[in-house]
Amino acid sequence: MYLNDTIVAPATPVGAGAVAIVRMSGPRAFEILAKIWHPIRPRAGAREPRKLYLGDVIDPATGALIDRALAVAMPHPASLTGEDVAELQCHGGPLVVRRVVALAIAAGAAGARMAEPGEFTRRAFLNGRIDLAEAEAIADIVAARSDSALAQALSHLSGALSERVAHLRAQVIAIRAHLEVEIDFSDEDIAMPSRRTVAADIERLIADVALLHDSFARGRLIRDGVRATIVGKPNAGKSSILNLMLGTDRAIVTAVPGTTRDVIEDSIQLGPYALVLSDTAGVRESGDEVERIGIERTLRSARDADFIIAVFDSSRPFEAEDADVIALIHDHRTRDGAALAILNKQDLPSKLSADELRERGVRVPILAISAIHAEQAPPLRSELAQMVDALVAVPAPEGIAISRARHREALATALGALKNARDAALAAIPPEIVAVEVMAAADALGAITGDVSSEDVLDAIFREFCIGK
Ligand code: GDP
Repeated sequence: MYLNDTIVAPATPVGAGAVAIVRMSGPRAFEILAKIWHPIRPRAGAREPRKLYLGDVIDPATGALIDRALAVAMPHPASLTGEDVAELQCHGGPLVVRRVVALAIAAGAAGARMAEPGEFTRRAFLNGRIDLAEAEAIADIVAARSDSALAQALSHLSGALSERVAHLRAQVIAIRAHLEVEIDFSDEDIAMPSRRTVAADIERLIADVALLHDSFARGRLIRDGVRATIVGKPNAGKSSILNLMLGTDRAIVTAVPGTTRDVIEDSIQLGPYALVLSDTAGVRESGDEVERIGIERTLRSARDADFIIAVFDSSRPFEAEDADVIALIHDHRTRDGAALAILNKQDLPSKLSADELRERGVRVPILAISAIHAEQAPPLRSELAQMVDALVAVPAPEGIAISRARHREALATALGALKNARDAALAAIPPEIVAVEVMAAADALGAITGDVSSEDVLDAIFREFCIGK
């Protein structure tokens, strides 16, 4: 389709920096480079691929000097995209970058075209340089906000997930081969692999695929961070606890403009993991309608959360709202260890004890602190770090966990097809029909790495990328 043209884009972010890279890929990349960039030592021997050379970027139309820049040529097929790739390392000013990109686009009749988001990576996929799971891993590396998220994405990029999926797919295809024997020779008197053996093989595969499918629980927490919501009655100290945790360790601030709510999320790194704190603490009730919206918003945020931090005020007696908070913890706790109670304001005379909270039904760990004292941050963080660590410690096969809903859906489809195949095999249904289910499982697994893919799926994946990636 449009693989025949040459694309160009800045590969570095917009803004001032030491260096900005302008990247070109496609059949005319070198020709365009030769038109707009001239080495300052043209007679210093033949220029070699993958080596940087200093030169001037000159507007061929006017002869005007645009920048002095390093250039590198990476011929196909051993390049990023599998095509001829040329990069210019310019001075990192936004105007310089704009002008260099404009020159590449304007370079004669055969100029480049501005790349679409993710188009370089998409070309790498289409040219077989990387598979789809690896392309997704590149997006995950860029978006990683914790050490564990980065490590997981790098492991996927290095092919760990793809290899695991390919291994499963090869086993599915081996079963298909067994069935082929039955299909081809069903009239002849040869020893058939018994249907029970086939069903047992499929059963083993189901267990392996299910394990990878279930690793999503861990992989998602690693990739997206553990979403924690702070709940508690007004004035219990929710905002103070948020501030205590963010403190000077505030790592990354992400404003997530929700469609139905505008909860601001703050992310902190807790050990190797990211803890994404949803700030429902700022909700201040000033009228019935507002109060209702505020409470709904808190409940929704708590329901979506992976972890709940429930704040109680030790300087005030137990109230009905505290009972609501306890009910909320119980409603939420789909998994043990997904909530921490904080008994706040320990510096004030006590009207509520940890014992009373337990009597009132709190079954999660209770940490007594004073949120207004900065030195209370380390114990809070260490308690949370331990709990998050336990939460993320879901078994994953050989340490490989999937982290994308697309992969989970594909594995769920594969599981469904394999279960159908197993049942069909045991029910002495014709081998052709068992084979159809088996191949449906193979296709679903193939969708993860892109062996089987549609334009729509590709569009959805590469839309996530920025221009120049
Ligand atoms: P929220 O409504 O739950 O978000 O509560 P805030 O964090 O806004 O705190 C309400 C009030 O309690 C503020 O005046 C805080 O300074 C105060 N506060 C919070 N934590 C403590 C604490 O540990 N000790 C004392 N003495 N005051 C606290």
